[in-house]
Amino acid sequence: MTESFSKERSALPTFATKSGFTPHDLRDHNLALVLRYILLGQGKWSRADVAAHTGITRATVSRLVDELIHAGLVNEREPYVSSRRGRPATRLVPAAYTHYAIGIEVNPYCLVGYAVDLTGEILARDYVYQNSIVKSPAEIMRCLSRMAHGLKTQVEARESRFIGLGISVPGVLIEDSKVTSIILGWDEVDYEKILKEVHDLGPVLAGNDGAMAAYALAYPFPGVPAGPESLIYFSGNEGISGGIVIDHEIFDGQHGRASELGHLCGALEGPTCKCGSIGCLESRLGMDALLSEAQLPPDSQLKEILSSAATGSEPAKQTLEHAGRILGVFLAGIANMMDISDTVIAGHLTEIWEGIAPFVHQELVQRLLYIKPAEFKIEISEDTHGMAARGIAHRVLRELISNPARWIDDPELSFEAVVEWIYS
Ligand SMILES: [Zn+2]
Repeated sequence: MTESFSKERSALPTFATKSGFTPHDLRDHNLALVLRYILLGQGKWSRADVAAHTGITRATVSRLVDELIHAGLVNEREPYVSSRRGRPATRLVPAAYTHYAIGIEVNPYCLVGYAVDLTGEILARDYVYQNSIVKSPAEIMRCLSRMAHGLKTQVEARESRFIGLGISVPGVLIEDSKVTSIILGWDEVDYEKILKEVHDLGPVLAGNDGAMAAYALAYPFPGVPAGPESLIYFSGNEGISGGIVIDHEIFDGQHGRASELGHLCGALEGPTCKCGSIGCLESRLGMDALLSEAQLPPDSQLKEILSSAATGSEPAKQTLEHAGRILGVFLAGIANMMDISDTVIAGHLTEIWEGIAPFVHQELVQRLLYIKPAEFKIEISEDTHGMAARGIAHRVLRELISNPARWIDDPELSFEAVVEWIYS
């Protein structure tokens, strides 16, 4: 059987009624709705609460919850102690361990792999660092395949059900068939060819790493949009990546390629970027560029720019000012265009944030149009290791959450290798 992942947009559930539904369609729809609300309730809601939130009758909710429990997707927990009269109702929680997805993040310096269940728990993890990664697509995919199989073996010892594999790549899909990653040096690599290494791992979903890290911030748990409704995610190391979330959905542009924040123009002049252009953010704010401007050796820690500036180094001081101003101009521009006031800064810039923050704020004060600077929130996130791996795993689990009936109705459901780049 050949199946493909749905491209449907399915953020917050809505109780929309459509004409033409068969009773079976209605059951599938309501099953998904009930599961989404149980996830949204985060262990606080009973069957009656789910009925109240969805508008479905209590009897029907109860029958659907029984079905979800039987399928191993939901569990019941003891009720909270309540002073209210009557018998307290049991609470509903997503089932731990029973279903899982594997998310693997490919980046220039390591592979990070997580096996994640419906509760968001990481059941198994693995890392491979740069000195053992050969950067050709075939070598990376062989390494990735070994990692995915290893994680699957670990988790399946618990008899958990595998939902799919997600891969985050610092690149974009072009013409539905070729992946280009400037930072990895992949130039229009045949997408299906490189995924042959994982053909036996069932459905494969892939997406841009910055976008998937942003997705993990918007959905800190599978199916639970508890993060910012809209946000700008800006991260980096050797290169610059990022993502934009609007209404809990990744903003990916007309063709799914709107993720190259690092190649926005940050200056009219400057070094030539790896993409061939001049003045890209990446060529000004990447780690190598910052160390070079501060006249520090390339193997220095980024924090040494702060200590150099503190001891009077003019190049270090200028580097911090330039970096802060460039970042401020960029953030104000995106915020004015997209009307987003939540930003998360991650990666290497967090190491020098105290030195660049005053200049970022100066630019924001000067350039924000309708968003008041005090409303513009910047969160510094120092621990985003594996964030894209988590995001892509959550995105794969969304396929289960969006249509649990498909998985319940066929316990033996298996897929031929189907590859799909996320157009969220
Ligand atoms: Zn560039």
